[in-house]
Amino acid sequence: MNEAKDITSYLKHYGFFFPSAEIYQGLAKSWDCGPNSTELKRKLKDLWWKCFVTFQPYNVGSDSLILTHPRVLEASGHLKNFYDWLVECSNCQKRHRLDKLITAEEFTSFLAQENKQEFSISQNCPSCDKNKFTNPRQFNLLLSSDLQITNQEKKNLVYLRPETCQGIFINFSAIQISIRKKLPFGVGQIGKSFRNEITLHHGIFRTREFEQMELEFFCSLEEKEKWWEYWNQKAWNFLTSLLNDKNKAQKKALDQEELPHYAKKTTDLYFQYHFGPGELCSISDRGDYDLKNHSEKSGEKLKVEGITPHVIEVSFGVERLMLAILEDAYQEETIENSKGEKKREVLKLYPLLAPYFVAVIPWKKSLREKAKQIYQKLLTEINFSVIYEETDSIGKSYHYQDAIGTYYCLTVDDQTLNDETITVRERDSREQLRFSCQEQELSQFLNQKYQECWKKLIKI
Ligand code: ATP
Repeated sequence: MNEAKDITSYLKHYGFFFPSAEIYQGLAKSWDCGPNSTELKRKLKDLWWKCFVTFQPYNVGSDSLILTHPRVLEASGHLKNFYDWLVECSNCQKRHRLDKLITAEEFTSFLAQENKQEFSISQNCPSCDKNKFTNPRQFNLLLSSDLQITNQEKKNLVYLRPETCQGIFINFSAIQISIRKKLPFGVGQIGKSFRNEITLHHGIFRTREFEQMELEFFCSLEEKEKWWEYWNQKAWNFLTSLLNDKNKAQKKALDQEELPHYAKKTTDLYFQYHFGPGELCSISDRGDYDLKNHSEKSGEKLKVEGITPHVIEVSFGVERLMLAILEDAYQEETIENSKGEKKREVLKLYPLLAPYFVAVIPWKKSLREKAKQIYQKLLTEINFSVIYEETDSIGKSYHYQDAIGTYYCLTVDDQTLNDETITVRERDSREQLRFSCQEQELSQFLNQKYQECWKKLIKI
């Protein structure tokens, strides 16, 4: 396995991520998904949904709004408590998140310190190397919008949700009654969240707009420890089953001082990115904090079987997980062939996450019609993504398909015209097999491989 490297330019080159509004020199450090990561993202969200919702007998789904009433975030404590500690360099005016500037031990003692203004920072500013910082101050991370219809109207403030789960908590009774479930049960949701981050860095790792895949699992206090263990294990298995190098994943239980305002305990899952370890999933025991507060502030009973349930939350960041998967998948290999040695770059993605499971490629121009027919036939026989690719050289096609992680390349050559067989090249081993395109032999082979990958994941 190679050392992780900063693959930002690689991902841009191969259509994974583009700087947003680049033609207007627009939003700094913001990214749009290109065609290949759009496919990857859809597949990743689909896998998560299957593993955390569809194949979990206790769980159902939800899709609540991004726009959030201020009273929701007042009750959830976000208006008051959702902040990071900010310091500014008085020399170069660069802003820093204090917990990222100093060591974890120093930050813990800072949090425990009564008078925060007296805290002195021993590190220099990473931008100008001077040690001239302002006093630490709290910086609220909420982003807001205004729903006024005309300019004359009073401001009608709404927030863009900072986490998807509040939509689940405020709909708790409606969900529980409509699905007629008793405890325990869980509600999964995937969607955008927004945070006014102090600093943005490491490409898609930290952005103001991002997606989360969250599960809120409701259970009784008595059963909480059992479910805490269960969901911790599930989250860990989900992450590690998508990585080639499982040693790049780590767990970290947060100290009391580090806990978010809603949590009784939290374990974060980390990945060893090219810039160092970074959190990509957070598993929290939120206790009855959210339901109790919403119940008090709204006057609605948010109970089931006479009790306020406790909540175990599993919260994955979609883009952070994607970045981890892409960094882990990237490999440079030296290949020996009859012409000597050559380098290949390949994304060894979990096959179900490859933007395309299969690419159909004609060996030369005169075979394009035949290749198109085979592609069309496959579309009716398979249930995974397939792309048709035309280039002047089969070598270039293999190079490109390896670089974006396509799992199988199907090559149509002269022999195909004679006997209706096709070459199937596997991405990782580059092994080539020949299959008949007739009688569904090819599609049966591909469907079986696809199902095998599914079965592995479902067992996690
Ligand atoms: P951090 O300490 O890195 O700011 P956090 O502890 O505030 O993250 P959580 O509130 O636990 O993050 O959110 C759950 C998950 O949502 C994170 O593990 C991460 O994957 C994702 N996430 C949070 N903030 C961002 C962001 N600004 N950009 C991208 N993903 C994010």
